Amino acid sequence: MNTVIDMRSDTLTRPTESMRNAMAAAEVGDDVFGEDPTVIRLEQMAAEITGKAAALFVASGTMANLVSVLTHCGRGDEIILGDQAHVFFYEQGGCAALGGIHPRTVPNRPDGTIAPDDITAAVRKDDVHFPRSRLVLLENTHNRCMGSPLDADYVSRIGRLARDHDMGLHVDGARIFNAAVALGQRVSDLVEAADSVSFCLSKGLGAPVGSLVCGDADFIRRARRNRKVVGGGMRQAGVLAAAGIHALEHHVDRLAEDHVNAATLAAGLAGIPGLTIDPAQVKTNIVFFRVTGAGLDADTLVRQLAGQGIKMMALGPELIRAVTHLHISAGDIDRALGVFADVLG
Ligand SMILES: *Cc1c(COP(=O)(O)O)cnc(C)c1O
Repeated sequence: MNTVIDMRSDTLTRPTESMRNAMAAAEVGDDVFGEDPTVIRLEQMAAEITGKAAALFVASGTMANLVSVLTHCGRGDEIILGDQAHVFFYEQGGCAALGGIHPRTVPNRPDGTIAPDDITAAVRKDDVHFPRSRLVLLENTHNRCMGSPLDADYVSRIGRLARDHDMGLHVDGARIFNAAVALGQRVSDLVEAADSVSFCLSKGLGAPVGSLVCGDADFIRRARRNRKVVGGGMRQAGVLAAAGIHALEHHVDRLAEDHVNAATLAAGLAGIPGLTIDPAQVKTNIVFFRVTGAGLDADTLVRQLAGQGIKMMALGPELIRAVTHLHISAGDIDRALGVFADVLG
């Protein structure tokens, strides 16, 4: 019996044996007291990698974005973000629910960018009727836009635009390392224009838990207060931070393999009748495709694939997502494509 090939998400990665060893050996202390040496080391690494002065270890990407937006904005302020943004789609509207912060969506283009003119047009005038435009939020890579990476030039341009209108820029960089590897640009260059950036350790980097928020020292001091009020103060979190340090040291360069595997999958799917995909759009580890001419819907196809040991996620009546990661090999992609040919042949 073949093992299951699970491409529903890159959050499914389990800690490797050497990562578990690093976790077991971690020195710890009470991090709410600022006394966990491993958390401090992870935060220093994150600050250095992103080119920011300071960083904060938090429980999840959702918490990282929430704490960041709460730190930038107050009640009645507005954030301008893409209509496909994770913060808009998948975070329960937490900024509004918990922070009284109004989301103003503008269209994401298929490559994950937002047209600068659309941002400019969305900025509010100083008027008693309007919320105050306070923050622009970009997502890099852009999850719902085929995992597209946003390059340093584009992010810099949006950073200047935000500053010109007295707004901040936050980058939801849950997969910023995928962007850096795909573009051959440094993470610090990708977020140079951003006032804050969040990134996940628990996606392609393969750690079990954790995200970082990075920014200047005053921003991170205020973010630390906001982390506490949302219940995110952790105690001997060094066991988790150790996994993150291990991931940053050993699992960044290998993301290139995930990108090759995703490209191979996309090219193979493009050759299967009944499926629609433009392989040129696949630049990182996320593959979206449509079941159009096969006489079955996405849910049905996903069920049939699962019956053959291939797990993917249906995200609409026609839309299916597959994500490559640490536990997906080139051989797994070949096997998956074979199953597709069987099921749809
Ligand atoms: C996964 C993800 C998040 C949230 O991370 P969680 O750890 O699942 O809360 C935020 N932004 C993007 C783009 C993501 O893909």
